[in-house]
Amino acid sequence: MNIEQLKGIGPKSAQLLRKVGITTITDLLTYYPYKYLQINIKKLNDCLENETVYVEGEIGSVPKASFIRRNLNFLSFVCHIDGKNVNVRIFNRAFLKPNLTLGKHIVLVGKYTPIKNTFIASDIKFNVVNNTIEAKYHLISGLKESLLVKAIKSALELNYNLPDYVPKEFNDAYALIGKNAAIKYIHEPHSMTEIKQAKLKLIYEELFDYTFKINALKIKNRQANGLKKVFDTEKVSDFLSDLPFKLTEDQNQTINEILADEKGASRMNRLVLGDVGSGKTIVALAGILANYLSGYQTAFMAPTEILAKQHYESIKNYFTNQGLNIALLTGNMTKKEKEQLYEALKTQKIDLVIGTHALINDQVKFAKLGLVIIDEQHLFGVKQRNALQEKGAIGPDVLYLSATPIPRSYALCLYGDLDLSMIKTKPQMRKEIMTLVKKETEIKDVLLKMLAEIKGGHQVFVVSPLIDENEEGNLNSVLKLKEKLNLAFKEQVPIEIIHGKMKQAEKDQIMQDFLAQKIKILISTTVIEVGIDIPNATMMIIFNAERFGLAALHQLRGRVGRSDLQSYCYLISNTDNDRLKVMEASTDGFYIAEKDFEQRGQGDLFGVKQSGDISFKIANIRQDSKILLQASKDSEKFLMEHKYLEDKHYQEILKEIDFLD
Ligand code: ADP
Ligand code: MG
Repeated sequence: MNIEQLKGIGPKSAQLLRKVGITTITDLLTYYPYKYLQINIKKLNDCLENETVYVEGEIGSVPKASFIRRNLNFLSFVCHIDGKNVNVRIFNRAFLKPNLTLGKHIVLVGKYTPIKNTFIASDIKFNVVNNTIEAKYHLISGLKESLLVKAIKSALELNYNLPDYVPKEFNDAYALIGKNAAIKYIHEPHSMTEIKQAKLKLIYEELFDYTFKINALKIKNRQANGLKKVFDTEKVSDFLSDLPFKLTEDQNQTINEILADEKGASRMNRLVLGDVGSGKTIVALAGILANYLSGYQTAFMAPTEILAKQHYESIKNYFTNQGLNIALLTGNMTKKEKEQLYEALKTQKIDLVIGTHALINDQVKFAKLGLVIIDEQHLFGVKQRNALQEKGAIGPDVLYLSATPIPRSYALCLYGDLDLSMIKTKPQMRKEIMTLVKKETEIKDVLLKMLAEIKGGHQVFVVSPLIDENEEGNLNSVLKLKEKLNLAFKEQVPIEIIHGKMKQAEKDQIMQDFLAQKIKILISTTVIEVGIDIPNATMMIIFNAERFGLAALHQLRGRVGRSDLQSYCYLISNTDNDRLKVMEASTDGFYIAEKDFEQRGQGDLFGVKQSGDISFKIANIRQDSKILLQASKDSEKFLMEHKYLEDKHYQEILKEIDFLD
């Protein structure tokens, strides 16, 4: 049913409602309040200055309207409140004048200033009952609260039946109230208890529905036939025990999970979540070795060429005695070189190929692809990931590595269709990166520290959010910083820049020179964000740090502190320094992610808009993480026990994802 059919909603109102996404009665009824106010009428004597209060009284003079300019008017009148004649003023409510007749009883919302005996009202209400609860809705300009409330009221009066998507067994188990009652209470509650009951029902329903789908995807993935690899586990253990360090407990656990997946009958779909430097590469190596021992090839995909090369070099080192033929595929190889490599992959002369996205190119064909590893792909959401899997060849195990630590509840939502391994413990012996937030006026100190590091034989990363200064006024661009630093160090220190608009060959050359310590200070945009390893770099200075989210700053900072040298990170900012202090306080990526999460909410995490993937009407996956976990467990049970066979709604969802044929 359409909203225009509602009593009192004309075409104009309907248009306004459409602007907030309301076209049907269902939309209207599920346009939930974002907060509630308890109306508590005060006596004038009890009002504190600057406190927003409700008071009641009778109109004592005919309101005078003053029109100052378009969009600015006010009404002033006298009101008898608790035996006093108070001067009331209210802005932009001139339209209320006809309702404000002499002697009328009203409730004023606003602030009272006793010295001036004036009340600046933000709203005037009629027929208010003390101690009732008022629902507050998100509004847009032009859409008045009164219209929305009126529309919802008439919709509720229709006694419209919204379907209840919570299966009966869970409704019973948690004694949830009915859907219609929940809808009524959420808009017109009589008590806090009713709000609580309504929220529990609606949040649970929403999360049950969402996790049902995610769980179905996970089961679908698990049912996909895998390769059931056969290999000698001892050979993998030998390789691991020959490493020059002892694996952490979480690394061992993750390796066991990966090996079990490879042996198992279903296809691996696993995400390894671990902070920068937590040692994810080794874990992947165990998987690659097992795959190789079973007679299969591996494709290892890195997000950038630089990173692919670095992985290639270090993995070659690790695998010197293992017998694998390893190749690198990059964009700047000649056509002939590429063709040779393609041929070698087809004839299984290569066991492991490391490269960029070029690997998923149609021309790349494998004789026996058994494992795909995707490094640092935290920017993929559920939808894109599914598309990727469907594109890929049938059969290979897939292992994702992500250096973006995220709270477990969020991971469950975003990556709930994957199996999850977490590496929380970091290798011992690492020194904590010392982080300091500084204002630009303190830059001299920072320059001195830089010079000291360089004199000590170390290198420095400088990061700026911009390439070129005319992009945006007073930010420190990469180019401007180069000038400034050359001036400060009297051209005595080799400084170079690197940014995303440079040619690949140029960037590679600069990274090589930096690695070879020909360059001492490297100024860059965030291109260095992903996994490059420059152990000799011990300092990072990030200008206009307020421009970055905490999780992004943590990623950047992870570029230093990659050896046993003491490293430093300076965050330069003139604003927002309280937020940045989180970085001083902690180097724990999971903690920082939690803080980032709190500050930005769920909509925009790590700079990725998840709107298409996750957008809830009432649930908040941070606040409601307990309900989320329970709903996920329940919906999984519901699926496993085939209860959906009696439920049309859930069957529809399964059809949508091709779970049922
Ligand atoms: P990331 O998780 O960021 O990809 P890497 O796998 O690149 O981390 O590991 C970072 C560094 O830590 C590498 O030089 C690696 O050799 C080293 N490393 C990995 N695991 C351990 C460990 N258990 N003990 C000591 N050093 C380790
Ligand atoms: Mg890595």
